[in-house]
Parts: sequence; C-alpha cells; structure tokens
Amino acid sequence: MPELPEVETIKTDLQRIILGKKILRVNIHNPKVIRQIPPAVFKKSLEGLRIKSIFRRGKLLVLELSSGKFLTVHLKMTGQLVIPGGSKTSRLSFVLSGGIILDFNDQRLFGELRLVSDWKKLKFIQRLGPEPFDLTLADFRDMLSKRKTEIKPLLLDQSFISGIGNIYAAEILFHAKIHPQTRAYSLTEDKQRVLYRQIRAVLKNAIKHGGSSVDDYVRVSGKNGDYARFHRVYGREGKPCFVCSIPVKRIAQGGRGTYFCPKCQPIYPTRAVKN
Ligand SMILES: [Zn+2]
Repeated sequence: MPELPEVETIKTDLQRIILGKKILRVNIHNPKVIRQIPPAVFKKSLEGLRIKSIFRRGKLLVLELSSGKFLTVHLKMTGQLVIPGGSKTSRLSFVLSGGIILDFNDQRLFGELRLVSDWKKLKFIQRLGPEPFDLTLADFRDMLSKRKTEIKPLLLDQSFISGIGNIYAAEILFHAKIHPQTRAYSLTEDKQRVLYRQIRAVLKNAIKHGGSSVDDYVRVSGKNGDYARFHRVYGREGKPCFVCSIPVKRIAQGGRGTYFCPKCQPIYPTRAVKN
C-alpha cells in the first residue's frame, strides 16, 4: 500500500501538472471506487470545477475544488493516479483542461474516491495520529511512554502516527537499530531520540527518491519510484544484512510480515519499567 512517501510524491507530481486545471468530464468505468454518494451525483458535482489546491494528510490525498468542496483519494492497496490517462483498464478518468487525462487505476478495487464538504470530518481522519514531520521529540517521547504495544505494530497504527506502513516501519527500525518486538514504553531515552530522528530521515529520503515501487505503486508519470533499491531489510528475508552479513529474518506481527536483522537490531534494549 502506498505510504506517506508515495502519496507525498504523487501529490507533488499532481501539483506540477493539474493545479488550476478545470475538470471538463468525469468518465466512470467502475462506480465501486466512488464512496458515499451516487456516481451520477459525483460526476455532475465535479464537472466544471477547477482544482484549487492539492495536499496530503497521512496516506490520504485531498484536492480542493473551486466549489469549496474536496475530492479525497485513498489509493489503498492498488490505486494509481496516472497521466497520460485514457486507458481501457482505468476505473475512472478525469478529462481536464489543457488536454490532460488523469486516470484512476485500481486493480483490486479497494481504493476510495469521495466528494465531501469537509475532509476533516471524515471518520478515519478524525482518528488519525500526528504527521511525522509535525511531531516534536517531547510529544513523541510522551506518546511512546504511554504504550505497551510492540513498537513495529505501533508505528503502523495510523491513530498513533500517520503515514507509516509496513515498508517504512521495517526500514525505520533497522536504521534505528531497534528490535521490532520492543515494547514502546520500554525504549530508553536515547532510543526514543534515535527512533524519532530515523522516522524523519527515512521518510525524507524516501520522498527524495520518489517512494518505493514494490507491488503496484507508480508515480503519476507511470514510472517507478526509486527508493526500493535503498531498502535494507524490507522484502529481504534470508538475504545477508548489508551491515553484518547475517541473514535478514521475517516474523509475523499483528498479521503482517516484519523484516529485521537479528544482530543489528538486538532484542529489547529496554530500561527498567515502573509498574
Ligand atoms: Zn545486520
């Protein structure tokens, strides 16, 4: 699933191409991707509007329209936004001014397009934790100290911190040299700081390289993001660690696969815990 760096990359790609453009036509090929309102209303409400701004919150992409409403796009598992569009396999196409066609592709149909008056009122937005780049170290320390959960599933929890998914949680913990099963509240102050810094560093670097093209993620141009070649542990089970040569291990955590190096990420660098 596209995570913060991928959605951020798509946002920037779209800003360059479709900002200020007018939506001339919406061609709906599969109405399943439209949530909450009837497809005909979705189409009619969008046609004729301009795209005023494009931004991101967590993994959600938001397009502000000239009517004051918002088009929100959640790519979920296999969603893609691609220009030039007009493909026969797209679920929906936006025909824009300037001869641009933007396709929404979604092989597995988990993606969600919504037209809403206030995107902040979306239920999952209200439950969303802070953006990694808005968070202070002091707040992060406070958040960690209150949670007994293992750190890897906690990083995936969008109500704890938003935008991090399975790829970046694994990569961040590798760079921070933290075992994924470490209990959040047991991290030492030093490890809290290292983790805080690595969250920012890994995400920033991934954005710089246009995200990770594993599975279905592509940039708006249809080209791959370039960050997968920098992955240290994700998807590398059994392959030698780039630092210590020990085979990367995969375990299941909360129903998801977790990749880590047993030597570089030693178990439980804990401090004494008060009960
Ligand atoms: Zn290692």
